[in-house]
Amino acid sequence: MAVRSQKDEYFDELETMSPAAREKYLDEKLTEAVKHAYRHAPAVKKLFDGAGISPDQIRMVKDLEKLPVTRKTDLLEMQKENLPYGGVAAIPLEDIERVFISPGPIYEIQPSSIKWFARSFWAAGFRKGDVVINTFTYHMSPAGILFHEGIRDCGATVVVAGTGNTDLQIQIMKDLKVTGFVGTPSFLMTVIQRAEEMGLDIKRDLSLKRAWFTGEMLPPSLRKTFEGDYVIDTYQAYAVTEPGGAIAYECHRKSGMHLMDEYVTEIVDPETGKQLGPSEIGEIVTTQLYNKNWGLIRFGTGDLSSYITEPCPCGRTAHRITGIVGRAGDAVKVRGMFVVARQAEQAIMSFSQVARYQLIVGRRQHRDEMTLRLELKDTSADKAKLAEGINKKFQDTCRIKIDKIEFAEAGSISEKQQGITDERKWE
Ligand SMILES: [Zn+2]
Repeated sequence: MAVRSQKDEYFDELETMSPAAREKYLDEKLTEAVKHAYRHAPAVKKLFDGAGISPDQIRMVKDLEKLPVTRKTDLLEMQKENLPYGGVAAIPLEDIERVFISPGPIYEIQPSSIKWFARSFWAAGFRKGDVVINTFTYHMSPAGILFHEGIRDCGATVVVAGTGNTDLQIQIMKDLKVTGFVGTPSFLMTVIQRAEEMGLDIKRDLSLKRAWFTGEMLPPSLRKTFEGDYVIDTYQAYAVTEPGGAIAYECHRKSGMHLMDEYVTEIVDPETGKQLGPSEIGEIVTTQLYNKNWGLIRFGTGDLSSYITEPCPCGRTAHRITGIVGRAGDAVKVRGMFVVARQAEQAIMSFSQVARYQLIVGRRQHRDEMTLRLELKDTSADKAKLAEGINKKFQDTCRIKIDKIEFAEAGSISEKQQGITDERKWE
């Protein structure tokens, strides 16, 4: 990458392409990616054959409607049937550079050295001289290493912190005079609350100036708290694991997230897969173009959003998606992790004592919280032991902990309530 100066406003020339140039760029990249994937990835050939079309029929973004949307559950099934990559990898196995593991497990491959990813950190103002603490996990998920490299590509120093251990994170932030935070909004709030309990004054004792978030929504009220009360400039990006990266990112105008040109991102009707127009709410469906060896075409994220085409005063020309307004599918995102309904069910119902369950996702003090209500077949069971066993099994399967397990009276959970109930309100 060329050496960048502190004052450069844009990370690269793609950010300010004219609409016509972008259309041509995306159409060409898409045609190329589809052809390669069809030739080398058996799952992609199957996808095309099943839809009765040939790769020549995908010449522009609009043509993608001819193909069905592939969802997380489909990918899981494909990989289960055809390990390790479900026929999606379009590369000899020995040439694969790195592999990530999503809950499921789902295996994803990625090349190293992804320069463009830094765009979102650049737009958030990260520069040489910043000391940035990366609190995303470096284990299994792409988040840690991918964000690490992106921060480095802006010239900033990265503190390899990873998740958890709030007290130590606070000490590190203080000792190293950390200026940037990369993590989830709820974790930054946890850090701030704990630091205040420890007697620290955030503005006086820490050097935190900016924060970059992904993995969960940043409610406007929380943004106001960070920016108003603590003078921390906040930015968010929208990232999806399976296609490997951040699809959209905020600029300093903070009015929607600009789409990355390494993906074709469509907003579609989740029922029909047809593309929707500006401002219409639909599912975010994405096809990545930067790694032609990962033939994941039209990946349905399950997240609901809309896009806007009005030019942004920041000068970046890519369309913007508005925030995530909900989930189309059966998976809910809790503290940045997808909890797939079927997986949750398998974990909980593997205990024969359980008659019915309701998993409630709520929100308390800007943190997602899961409460599991259980109806038992046999009320004489050892409840403490059962709760412990279920939570362990749930954590092993879904990689996230249930906050509270309650035992309900027989008959108090209706058939309709069985499953996941998302009670969160985003305002
Ligand atoms: Zn902008």
